[in-house]
Amino acid sequence: MSNEHKNSLGQVSLVAKVNPEKESSYRKLLDAAIKASEMSYCPYSDFPVGAALLTAEGKVFTGCNVENASFGGTICAERTAIIKAVSEGYKSFKAIAIHCKKLSGKWPCGMCRQFICEFGLNIDVVILNTDGALEWRSLEELLPGHFGPESLQT
Ligand SMILES: [Zn+2]
Repeated sequence: MSNEHKNSLGQVSLVAKVNPEKESSYRKLLDAAIKASEMSYCPYSDFPVGAALLTAEGKVFTGCNVENASFGGTICAERTAIIKAVSEGYKSFKAIAIHCKKLSGKWPCGMCRQFICEFGLNIDVVILNTDGALEWRSLEELLPGHFGPESLQT
């Protein structure tokens, strides 16, 4: 089909996913993620990452990665943003944009996918792909066969 293209996951997806309203909103969200990456504390990896989380109410929470000399204590930008939002009473999210100037076109790590999944499979994850274009995928696409809150229902 002529309206198909390969996304950065190497999957064929429909161009019909392009949505001008989301594009505009997600561009602003990505700008907030870029700004948040400037606050990154990453003396070990030197990969400054920023995230910006859009709530259902339209509020934006930002976060950056915060590394630790005990590496397992490191937290990613995505989880920082979510923890900030939840700790202030927000639990319904529309999208999360992620940016690292050294890692274009990369999707969140497995732990962050799991963390986002807790709050909904329809949350869009927004990145800049290697062509410099905005790209987004739902959490459901990024975490197939997920284990979420409903998995614990008996
Ligand atoms: Zn992560």
